[in-house]
Amino acid sequence: MEPATITVKGAREHNLRDISLKLPRGKLICLTGVSGSGKSSFAFDTLFAEGQRRYLESLSSYARQFLGQLPKPDVDQISGLSPAISIQQKTSGWNPRSTVGTITQINDYLRVLFARVGSQHCPKCGQVISAQTREQIIARILSLPKQTRFLVLAPVVRGQKGEYKDLFADMIRQGYARARVDGEVVSLSDVPKLARHIRHHIEIVIDRLIIQATLRPRLAEAVEAALKLGNGTLIVHPVESPGATKKEKPKKRTSEKDTSGDILLSSHYACTTCDLSFEPPTPQLLSFNAPSGMCPTCDGMGETFDFDPELLVPDPKKSFLKLAIAPMRTRIGRWRRHIYRGVANHVGFDLNTPWQKLSKKAKNALLYGLGDTHITFEWRWSGGVWRHGATFDGIIADLRDKHRKAKSSFVRAYYEKYMQRRSCPDCHGGRLNTQALAVRLGGLNINDISALSIHEARTFFSQLKLSQTQQYIAEEALKQISGRLGFLCDVGLSYLTLERTAPTLSGGESQRIRLASQIGAGLVGVLYILDEPSIGLHARDNDKLLQSLCHLRDMGNTVIVVEHDEQTMRIADEIVDFGPGPGVRGGKIMAQGSLQTLMRNKSSITGRYLRGQERIDIPTKRRPVVKPTASTTKQRKTKASKR
Ligand SMILES: [Zn+2]
Ligand SMILES: [Zn+2]
Repeated sequence: MEPATITVKGAREHNLRDISLKLPRGKLICLTGVSGSGKSSFAFDTLFAEGQRRYLESLSSYARQFLGQLPKPDVDQISGLSPAISIQQKTSGWNPRSTVGTITQINDYLRVLFARVGSQHCPKCGQVISAQTREQIIARILSLPKQTRFLVLAPVVRGQKGEYKDLFADMIRQGYARARVDGEVVSLSDVPKLARHIRHHIEIVIDRLIIQATLRPRLAEAVEAALKLGNGTLIVHPVESPGATKKEKPKKRTSEKDTSGDILLSSHYACTTCDLSFEPPTPQLLSFNAPSGMCPTCDGMGETFDFDPELLVPDPKKSFLKLAIAPMRTRIGRWRRHIYRGVANHVGFDLNTPWQKLSKKAKNALLYGLGDTHITFEWRWSGGVWRHGATFDGIIADLRDKHRKAKSSFVRAYYEKYMQRRSCPDCHGGRLNTQALAVRLGGLNINDISALSIHEARTFFSQLKLSQTQQYIAEEALKQISGRLGFLCDVGLSYLTLERTAPTLSGGESQRIRLASQIGAGLVGVLYILDEPSIGLHARDNDKLLQSLCHLRDMGNTVIVVEHDEQTMRIADEIVDFGPGPGVRGGKIMAQGSLQTLMRNKSSITGRYLRGQERIDIPTKRRPVVKPTASTTKQRKTKASKR
């Protein structure tokens, strides 16, 4: 059985004066006392430090060699200690890319949720994409009106150039008789000659069918064959049909040549309109830290750091050859000049023209190159002219390379004078690639949700409509997300967005976010140590915060709060009052027990204060958790002596 108390003997860390005490486990305990009286030394530098040290000791020696040794706090003995988690105001070691969403792990669950029940849209045309099984495809075709006549087509050439003589011959050998070539159904033995330089669309006619009761077996066969030949895609082309259908869309289904009535069906995860196929979404696809999800332009950073044309040309009155582009420091040699001249001749400008008079096209050609365009360069020499062809990548590509390869920080800094941070032109700071951003749930993509306030996000998820199957698949992730959003609201953080980054959060905010994520983690048997969590909270939010601390305790944890706040003391199961003064005058335990015990204790300042006999002078500027510096101790001393 676990011991019922944490027993500490002979604690002497910092100013603690050899104190010994017992703390009940599974309770909410408030350590109080004037600033510098030793409560933080006890909570963080003794209890938590020892908890951490023991945790490391428990790891394998292999793991320990990476983590190093923690010094043993100055204490004779501690027993009954649980694994300890401290939730302090200032948390160093957070990745600057951490956000409210990543710290609380809400982002992890959002990714799971989106991957499971989000709908993938085509990033190009926005159409919903879903992979269909053969059965779904057959069912879709059978849902056409009765008596509809239609062709089942297998697309084999989609907008490619060529004559395709061999293809037609091969199809005849495989037993097919007809094909739709550029929208016209023709006999395979009698295909008109195709122009080689024009893009063609060729579909093989697999079967001609009519929707009727006995169709199913033959249709299944046709679908099978069409998917095989069409590489997972088939086209159903309704042709002239009697009755209601004709009335409905008289124009669309009158002729076989008209392809507008085509229904594209695919067994792949593909956009049949844009002919783009995708991998079905996974949680990795929705992560800007994963290669499959990150925006390729900015590597998931949301911004680019690149050469800026404005900075590169400080004096636009200079011509290119007179080194208008500043980091091209040295005279341009003959070889390089003939390259630039080739570019200038190709685009049609003069390298001696002042930079400011060059056209945008000319400037862009020099800076960003000409892509795949083949340019002819002329190298003149006494023997004549040597012509050679190549592509041109531009000056900036060259500079990027030099910056990347720079060995000294001095050289790197030189290039960085001409570089600028910009919001990524492709993802506009969204960090994800276009496919990831085209996965939607309830009309929003994952970034839209991160941009909502926590309050709005909570409302969004509570109103989210899901089918029964989706509900079933999404249940766990949704529960985790709603729970965490609820905790964040409970500790008064409903105004934050999930995308807020860690460095922009106040100490109190980040502490409460960690608290919310701990509650969400649902651990049991843990010792939580918190540092003045009430700071900066309105009374109403403080109530909610205390409720969540009680919740943490009721889950089976020990919660120790270092706190001046009266409300916290009133709700605590046990109070330990440190004192009597700050620094060397503190380090003793003045009183311990329930609120009533403390109020009866004549020697406890906190007790007198709780009885309403005295006001405690709560410093407006709180010290950090580390050892008090000489100056702050001095400051407190003067305050204390005034009292
Ligand atoms: Zn599309
Ligand atoms: Zn980007």
